[in-house]
Parts: sequence; structure tokens; C-alpha cells
Amino acid sequence: MLKITDLKYRYKSIDDVYTYALSVKPKEIVAILGESGSGKSTLLDLIAGFLTASDGSIKLDERELTALSAEKRPVSILFQQHNLFEHLSVQKNILLGVSRTLKSSQKDILKVHKILKEVGLERYEHTLASSLSGGQQQRVALARVLLRREPILLLDEPFTGLDAKTRMEMLDLVQKITKENNLHTIMVTHELQDCERIADKIYLMKEHQLVEQ
Ligand code: ADP
Ligand code: MG
Repeated sequence: MLKITDLKYRYKSIDDVYTYALSVKPKEIVAILGESGSGKSTLLDLIAGFLTASDGSIKLDERELTALSAEKRPVSILFQQHNLFEHLSVQKNILLGVSRTLKSSQKDILKVHKILKEVGLERYEHTLASSLSGGQQQRVALARVLLRREPILLLDEPFTGLDAKTRMEMLDLVQKITKENNLHTIMVTHELQDCERIADKIYLMKEHQLVEQ
């Protein structure tokens, strides 16, 4: 279980303190709704280790994560955009999720084939990321985070640019991978429809706090 308790953060330029508490069980998808600027991305950045909390705890099965640097945390994160290296092929972009040096075994290459099939992009393996549409790029980025299969999956409004049908397919894929791999998934979205489709629990970010719905 991922358990966040009394986690606090304050930007230097703003007076308000953001406070977060939530829990996510394995196989569970928690959705976070809230107005723009309400502090949703801040929470994901705290969990991923891009920001350092002033107080509180983030525990994955009794293991405290707040003391770990970002690259040591068992987390993969998908942003709204700019997830890819545009000058690299689709295959290389995905391999970067498993190895930082692009040295890859035959096994890794097979994994890339399989995940590209799941996101419906098997024909684009050797295409440069820059020549894909925005929606296709987001599917490549999703393939990369799904291949990592880190126990904590963070999604920050990931499917905003996609057409409705593709978005539903991607949501279903996130759900399938979450269940099959016992992931703890947190998805920030402003689409109630996304929540209804795959979320097990919904929290609302309101007046600098998370409230369970
Ligand atoms: P959301 O993701 O819900 O739109 P954020 O978590 O990104 O909101 O931001 C919460 C608040 O913190 C916003 O008012 C935003 O302007 C402010 N903020 C975000 N990043 C920074 C930063 N690096 N420095 C100062 N303020 C920031
Ligand atoms: Mg945001």
C-alpha cells in the first residue's frame, strides 16, 4: 500500500501551504480532480521526488520514500507533454525506460515490440518521435512508463490531447496494466469521464487540501 500522511509543501513565492493525505492499494487507481493551479501536479512532483516536502511521509509498504532521491524512487511518471526525445526513434525512446545507456538485450527489444502492439503503434518502431502526431507521441510515452512497471505509476493529465476513442483505449490499458502488475496508480485529470471509467477512488483538491469524495 502507498500511504501519504500529512505531506506538506510551500512554494517560496506563495503563502499557502499545500497539504496531502491519501492511500492507494495495489491494483488501485486513484483519480485526483481539481481546478487548474489547485496543487495537483505539486503532489505528483513530491511523490516522484522532484520537489522536497517540508513535512510528512510517503510510504510504500513501510518503506519511507521521502529520503530517497528521484532516481531511486520506485516511481514512473507520465506528463501532459514533452515526455519524449524527439530526435530518437520510437524504439529508442521506449528502451530509455528500461536502460539509461540504450544498451539493450534481445529480450528488451521483444518487450518493446509487445508494448508497442498494446498501444497500437507497432508500425512506428523505427520512426523518429518528432514525426509522430501529439497523440501518437503520448502513446509512446505511455508505452515507456508501462514497460518500466515501477510499483507507483503517476499520470499527470496524460490523455488531454487524444481523441475520445483513443483516450478510452489508453485508460483501459492503464487499468489493465495496473491490475496485472499490482501497481499503485494516481491519475490527475480534469475529465470526470476518465474517473468514471477507471478510478476506484476519487479525491478532490480544494483549498490546498486533498478531500476524498
Ligand atoms: P495544478 O497541477 O493543480 O494545476 P500545480 O500543482 O502545478 O497546480 O500548482 C499549484 C500552485 O503552485 C499554482 O498556483 C502554481 O502557479 C504554483 N506553482 C507551481 N509551480 C511553481 C513554482 N515552480 N514556483 C512557484 N509557484 C509554483
Ligand atoms: Mg498540473
